[in-house]
Amino acid sequence: MKAPRNPDLELRGRLIRSLGTLREMLPGSFVERKRACGRPNCHCADGKNLHSQFQISVLVDGKPKTFNIPADWADKVREKTEMRRRFDAAAATICGVNLKRFLKEKEERQS
Ligand SMILES: [Zn+2]
Repeated sequence: MKAPRNPDLELRGRLIRSLGTLREMLPGSFVERKRACGRPNCHCADGKNLHSQFQISVLVDGKPKTFNIPADWADKVREKTEMRRRFDAAAATICGVNLKRFLKEKEERQS
């Protein structure tokens, strides 16, 4: 006989299985800055066609640090910082499911 479906447990299982795809996650936030390089003949000298500088801002040993990202890595690094947000959202949902189960179990024990 099959156990009755439990949507909370199905959700938890689905989230847990999805975490493996987030293994390359990076902490911190992805930042894109626009800047002029200062060369008078560059296309950026008009103040409009500025260069993009990609950075990752992250806490290292509790101190905020900013690291430059090579332009051809920007998409990859942005995606990896988004993985961290998905990981945190999944962890919050899993904790919510577990707290609900914990409180229900406690209530049943007391009755
Ligand atoms: Zn320039």
